[in-house]
Amino acid sequence: MRALYIGRFQPYHLGHHAVLKEMASEADEVIICIGSAQRSHELDNPFTAGERYMMISKSLRDEGIFNFYIVPVLDVNWNAVWVSHVESLIPPVDVVFTNNPLIERLFEEQGYKVRAPPLFNRKEYSGSEIRRRISNDESWEILVPQAVVDVMTEINGLKRMKALERSDAE
Ligand code: ATP
Ligand code: MG
Repeated sequence: MRALYIGRFQPYHLGHHAVLKEMASEADEVIICIGSAQRSHELDNPFTAGERYMMISKSLRDEGIFNFYIVPVLDVNWNAVWVSHVESLIPPVDVVFTNNPLIERLFEEQGYKVRAPPLFNRKEYSGSEIRRRISNDESWEILVPQAVVDVMTEINGLKRMKALERSDAE
């Protein structure tokens, strides 16, 4: 059985990680799509697809998980054709795991089996919450796998996020 998981992973956190660990133990292979792959260097999307790739693959490998395949997916800004766009990039999948209502709708309309994984500590394990904490110099490291902290150091992610907050307005 091949299963699909889609997210923006800005950044990858312990909520995503808990879901993927379960999926990887249940499925023969997990396909992970990095959505909005072209976006980076924005406050809501600070990290490149390659940086998000590193966060996900290092975190899973650290757990001894190797049955995954990561695919960056560019936005097409065209919901009606988005599923076929994804299909053109991935091997066939038997089931899609998502908590996002639009993604659920789009895949169901194309006949896919969609399952909603449990949400883990959603208040804190949340990309928006982690970005907010980083901006406010609050502790965020406990909300992500250690590998994500390491990648953030490697790419100088905190410095980038601080720079993105600046503006040239008076
Ligand atoms: P953002 O706040 O930037 O939207 P996010 O935490 O929602 O970030 P996404 O990359 O948007 O992360 O989500 C990818 C998938 O992971 C979605 O299906 C989302 O519902 C799910 N997800 C997000 N947080 C959790 C969590 N704490 N537990 C389980 N699933 C989660
Ligand atoms: Mg989200």
